[in-house]
Amino acid sequence: MTQTLAAYCRERVAVVRAADRFRRRRVIEGAHGSVVVADGQRCVNFCSNDYLGLASEPALARRMARAGEQLGTGSAASQLVTGHNAEHAALEAELADWVGRERALLFSTGYAANVGVISALMGKADHVVADALNHASLIDGARLSGAQKHVYVHADADDAARQLAACGTGNRLLVTDSIFSMDGDTAPLSALAEQAAEHSAWLAVDDAHGLGVFGPQGGGRVAEARLDSQRVPLLLATLGKSVGAAGAFVAGDDVVIEAILQSARSLIFSTAPPPALAAAAREGVALARAGDRQRVHLMALIERFRHGARALGLPVSDSDSPIQPLLLGDEAQALAASDALLARGFLVGAIRPPTVAPGTSRLRITLTAGHDEAQVEGLLAALAAAVAPVTANRRRA
Ligand code: PMP
Repeated sequence: MTQTLAAYCRERVAVVRAADRFRRRRVIEGAHGSVVVADGQRCVNFCSNDYLGLASEPALARRMARAGEQLGTGSAASQLVTGHNAEHAALEAELADWVGRERALLFSTGYAANVGVISALMGKADHVVADALNHASLIDGARLSGAQKHVYVHADADDAARQLAACGTGNRLLVTDSIFSMDGDTAPLSALAEQAAEHSAWLAVDDAHGLGVFGPQGGGRVAEARLDSQRVPLLLATLGKSVGAAGAFVAGDDVVIEAILQSARSLIFSTAPPPALAAAAREGVALARAGDRQRVHLMALIERFRHGARALGLPVSDSDSPIQPLLLGDEAQALAASDALLARGFLVGAIRPPTVAPGTSRLRITLTAGHDEAQVEGLLAALAAAVAPVTANRRRA
């Protein structure tokens, strides 16, 4: 007997609740920033990916409003029909120039870009070789492509080489995040590029968390490692993090981008982003490129946080990026720590399975250039009061 949809869904939700994994959305009132009002409570926000503080920058909002007045709200069609506005074209040219590639192609989101690019280029006869901790969108892109999947030990270029060597005939795509979203650590990009060249594989890097934060003019982790389009022919990044807007892009040689434009289904069968959003992103790109002062400030905050957290005996990772996890292990403990911080006015996410492996639950603290030193000192004081005693007890136990 088939169930009613409502009965089936009630059971699904009950299973999530029983596993203590029920999640709800907070309602944020007002603008995003280093301080937010979440569910009516004002708190310092250490959950955001707005690494340069541009999401609430008035210059972006003004540009978006102006473009909205002139161009309207909707793009009204997909890119290959009539959705590709001059604002989108200009943004693509500016993005390509920023990351030093011939051409860039916009997508609505990073998720759509990753799924679209991988499934456009790879097929059943091919091989995708992927880091074990890659972002869900890269995993889903590989699944959708139907290619054979080979997963290598996280950030281990030697294991990636072994997996590449074991691929049979067919094209090979080596794919990795640059900075891993739940750990904040960085892939061994140069070593992976070497292995890709050695084994005739194409390398795709998702620089979602590196763009705007690292490299000359914030060109990203790939630019910082000086990896050109020969070595990293597929460079992906989102505009929803350091650029302070939304959308995403893939950049590479002209012919590669053309092939993706002709076949990426998440782009072809989807309405183009609003042109006013592209206008805001253009402002975000210009400010991110010129954002050395913000990058210096952000790096100082990261150092201050790491030094302070280490001094408190907290389980600091070796991440040098704005993503600073504190690995607590136990799910209940991570949740309790997040609640205790919120009670002190600090919004910090507890990341639990299935987002991370069982036994690796953590607090995920993200720092941005929008924070000031006093806010980081405040967070450290709250951690000292609410979390350090618990982790110290665990070490003694
Ligand atoms: N890649 C990585 C590494 C990410 O962390 C994210 C966002 N969490 C995405 C892609 C998806 O980007 P978007 O939010 O623009 O869909």
